[in-house]
Amino acid sequence: MNRDIFSRHDYCILICAGLCLLCVSIFMCGCAGPPVKHSRTREQMGTFVTITFYASGARRADIAMESAFDEIDRVASIMSAYDPGSELNRLNESGWSGYEASDELFAVIERSVSISEMTGGAFDITVGPLVDEWKKAKSQDRAPGRSAFETAGRKVGYEKISLDGETKTISFGEPGMSVDLGAVAKGYAADCAMEALRRHGIESAIIDAGGDVLARGTKPGGEAWSVAVLDPRRHSEAATILEVRDAAVATSGDYRRFIESGGRKYSHIFDPRTGRPSDCVSATAIAPDATLADALSTAFCVMGPEEAVRGADGIADVEVLIIDNSGNTFSSEGFGDYYSQPVRGREAD
Ligand code: AMP
Ligand code: MG
Repeated sequence: MNRDIFSRHDYCILICAGLCLLCVSIFMCGCAGPPVKHSRTREQMGTFVTITFYASGARRADIAMESAFDEIDRVASIMSAYDPGSELNRLNESGWSGYEASDELFAVIERSVSISEMTGGAFDITVGPLVDEWKKAKSQDRAPGRSAFETAGRKVGYEKISLDGETKTISFGEPGMSVDLGAVAKGYAADCAMEALRRHGIESAIIDAGGDVLARGTKPGGEAWSVAVLDPRRHSEAATILEVRDAAVATSGDYRRFIESGGRKYSHIFDPRTGRPSDCVSATAIAPDATLADALSTAFCVMGPEEAVRGADGIADVEVLIIDNSGNTFSSEGFGDYYSQPVRGREAD
């Protein structure tokens, strides 16, 4: 009798175990199907951000995608120049008397200052007063005034920022100084979003934050990601297509944001060394991460072809492509390794 009950119990356990195994294998089959392309675009940081990756399991992909977009919103809320409540604006209000920053803002500013040193001051986040003058002129539909620009230019200079790594205090050396992270925030946001994808098990993806592109890994077959560099004078056409894996590509230029007045174009990118708008048409930087690529594309724009090519040749894993107003192209030694399609235009000497 006892033996009978025992064997029936045993039998039940066997059935339950079998059912569990069946459920697990059905679930596993659902997850381990062939990877499917997931791609979504949202308006964030004043531009369009597109995140693309291949993954199996729709729910896992959804969660990863949401957390990546959330990261971009989070970075925007710290670094936006337009949001009066952003940490960047709190720094700009009290930097003259010293501002105790979050670890994250401190780290981005510290890195920006080191990129200023690396680029001989062509990249400089203290361009804030020039940016404000430029925005004022743009809203009034006029050219930026020379004397207002000269006054603003005197407040610019990354050497005037002091950074205390112990207390994370940022201090401006002059009243009226302000920091603008417009040249680096989108790249930094793309790096953070990629890290969020990785935390959710997505190791290969491409993130395009309005011209700041970060590509990790490859497509499922091992193929590199394709990144188009737009023709600066024919916006909807590609000047070239690059094949990219584990690198970031950023393009800066005068073709997205500028003021046109009296037959002249005033770029939103300034040469911090002269305080004048740069006359660069298009500069594309390739770098290991998107923060660096974003900052360097702005710096290369300011530097002009010769200084930029020399600069890129001197930094490991960094390349540059400059396209000028007549379509002439100038590139660093290793840029050609990324071509999937040769650049349309004329290779200058
Ligand atoms: P990007 O489109 O990445 O080249 O960034 C351009 C933005 O960066 C401008 O709209 C300004 O807010 C800011 N900026 C302009 N000139 C510089 C510069 N030389 N260094 C750093 N930031 C700059
Ligand atoms: Mg930039």
